[in-house]
Amino acid sequence: MGEAVKFVIDGLKANIENKEILRGVSLTINGGEVHAIMGPNGTGKSTLASAIMGHPKYEVTAGRITLNGEDVLEMDVDERGRAGLFLAMQYPAEIPGVTNADFLRSAINARREEGNEISLIKFIRQLEAKMKELEMNPEFAHRYLNEGFSGGEKKRNEILQMMMLEPKLVILDEIDSGLDIDALKIVAGGVNAMRSDDRGFLIITHYQRLLNYIKPDFVHVMMQGRIVKSGGPELAERLEAEGYDWVKEELGIVDETVGGPEEEFKVPMNTVAPKYN
Ligand code: ADP
Ligand code: MG
Repeated sequence: MGEAVKFVIDGLKANIENKEILRGVSLTINGGEVHAIMGPNGTGKSTLASAIMGHPKYEVTAGRITLNGEDVLEMDVDERGRAGLFLAMQYPAEIPGVTNADFLRSAINARREEGNEISLIKFIRQLEAKMKELEMNPEFAHRYLNEGFSGGEKKRNEILQMMMLEPKLVILDEIDSGLDIDALKIVAGGVNAMRSDDRGFLIITHYQRLLNYIKPDFVHVMMQGRIVKSGGPELAERLEAEGYDWVKEELGIVDETVGGPEEEFKVPMNTVAPKYN
């Protein structure tokens, strides 16, 4: 058994280019739990993921993030990775000149004490085993990171990174986009194999489909840069069947997006504006 995991986001607000995108997000993820964040496009889901990871473009203006009591916002980007935070990105970057294997080995060793680096043999064995599990062609180990990978191959490669790095908190941002159904099942299988009491998951997805394969414990809906509704897996099923309109109606939200050009015309959150009154 590894150590228990408790990841807490409390009242997080964040700006991009002086525009407020996150407007008070609070969420606690314990080890063993899978939380799904769903929501239409442009509601701040990826911004939340980037703010957690410390992307320099996103300025946190209020709130706290802690991992096992440690202040994440105080950490540099690389420290966050070493502390056990991992993000599988919606749009993974291509890094020509660095092979997949080299990248992974340095990332693993960056998380280890000096003198305790993973041996080449052990690394290769692990890498081969995980790539097999993900049904990846072995040649991908020696390709430059994400260069010329198809959308689906990039997503599989993100999952490979997750499996090799064994993070404490895994964030998957639209890992299902660009995947055909077979690839989706393989990716979900990889994620499910990593579920354990000493790891928490935050799964961002636009569609419920992924959640047929990765059963979430909690489902949250994001609109206007905050979590406006939370529930169990049944919430995802209702969203799949009925879309997001009923949530907007229930909460009196006219435009669910955040930070767009029509911002000024939005009805403020929590404004009681029932349609028929
Ligand atoms: P989602 O992931 O829910 O689709 P995002 O978090 O990507 O939404 O975007 C929320 C809002 O923030 C959008 O209006 C988007 O245009 C804006 N935004 C996100 N990232 C950037 C960025 N790097 N530069 C400028 N605007 C951004
Ligand atoms: Mg997004």
